[in-house]
Amino acid sequence: MDLSYTDEEKAFREDVRAFLDEKLPDDLRDKVKNGQELGKDGHERWHAILNEQGWLAPNWPKKFGGAEWNAVQRHIFEEEAAAASAPRIVPFGLAMLAPVLQKFGSKEQQDHWLPRILSGEDWWCQGYSEPGAGSDLASLKTTAVKDGDNYIVNGQKTWTTLGQHANMIFCLVRTDKDVKQQEGISFLLIDMDTPGIEVRPIVLLDGGAEVNEVWFTDVKVPAENLVGEENKGWTYAKYLLTHERTNIAGVGFSRAGLQAVKRIAKSEMAGGRPLIENPHFAARVAQVEIDLMAMSTTNLRIISKAAAGTAPGVESSMLKIKGTIIRQEINDLARRAAGVYAIPFASEAVEGSNAVLPDPLAAGPVAAQYFNNRKLSIFGGSNEIQRQIIAKTTLGGGQ
Ligand SMILES: Cc1cc2nc3c(=O)[nH]c(=O)nc-3n(C[C@H](O)[C@H](O)[C@H](O)COP(=O)(O)OP(=O)(O)OC[C@H]3O[C@@H](n4cnc5c(N)ncnc54)[C@H](O)[C@@H]3O)c2cc1C
Repeated sequence: MDLSYTDEEKAFREDVRAFLDEKLPDDLRDKVKNGQELGKDGHERWHAILNEQGWLAPNWPKKFGGAEWNAVQRHIFEEEAAAASAPRIVPFGLAMLAPVLQKFGSKEQQDHWLPRILSGEDWWCQGYSEPGAGSDLASLKTTAVKDGDNYIVNGQKTWTTLGQHANMIFCLVRTDKDVKQQEGISFLLIDMDTPGIEVRPIVLLDGGAEVNEVWFTDVKVPAENLVGEENKGWTYAKYLLTHERTNIAGVGFSRAGLQAVKRIAKSEMAGGRPLIENPHFAARVAQVEIDLMAMSTTNLRIISKAAAGTAPGVESSMLKIKGTIIRQEINDLARRAAGVYAIPFASEAVEGSNAVLPDPLAAGPVAAQYFNNRKLSIFGGSNEIQRQIIAKTTLGGGQ
């Protein structure tokens, strides 16, 4: 195992830095730095810039128009992008659906949908969870009943991230009720403009509405939009989830967040001294910094194994848990450092209006980020579920 970078990898890092320096628009960089929403237009602009560079789809094979980067290159890009405050790429089409289509989709589906994901023509959202089916996803109840050349879909999805921007949704639907739960699920691609679909926003703790409910009433979906075989959707769904859990450690985000905490804590005073010198606060900062360094090394160790051809297994659950605990601790420290400035977490600050922020360090969105990132330990498989996976795999027991 070699954790140092080769000359080639160092040169690649320089290329990425130069690209970000030149091509990342200042307004998008500022919004990411200040924790403000990018809006549909912001996401689409960054998507188009990466596409033009040929870097939009790092994990796709070249034959589908991807960059086909290895794990180390992807890690370097993610680190540099986070350090430069580049927007996160919306993953639903590019990083989740596309690998499923590439492995299980028909040639027609690949030829039709993949180029549209790259061009940005389609904005996809993920229709997995339902009110009664989250961790226990296989108990989902939305039905799809075959009717000639169509499926008729009825039911409800929930927590659909950025569904308000999407024109397409990939859904898990029940096509057989009389078999074991996992054996009666299919994977369906649905046009959001079809009559019978209603999107209702869910307003979250941070005041934003990035998630939605999606309701289906007698929605007619062409049978050709079924991916793979009927009732084999669970296999495809699980394959997709392995891709949902990439870059799960979020090392770059945590590094950037820690810098911000230190910046705020150096300027804020507590007991007549800069907060950063307060022993209790400094100890928490030191602890999270040590945890981050340790996790970053674990991350590199796993990447190094992946580069040598070993698929990450239970390690990705470890990274999910540690990565999200660290990010939430950093959010908490930022909120504490900002003190009263964090209280008016005005939605104007997050939405990027011209409202004057309460202090020069842009502490306005700190509380909103703290609230928003409660989600990190819930989605992509909650931390409790990851612990179950670790227990089951390493102790041979579990639930
Ligand atoms: C901000 C946000 C965005 C999301 N975006 C999407 C999206 O775009 N598309 C989509 O399909 N879904 C999305 N989700 C849904 C997400 O995948 C689910 O919230 C998640 O799987 C947990 O399911 P649940 O909310 O139903 O909680 P539940 O499964 O009801 O869990 C409730 C609590 O019980 C714990 N628990 C459950 N089972 C066990 C067990 N066996 N052992 C120990 N503890 C257990 C959980 O960890 C949790 O703490 C999103 C969620 C959030 C919060």
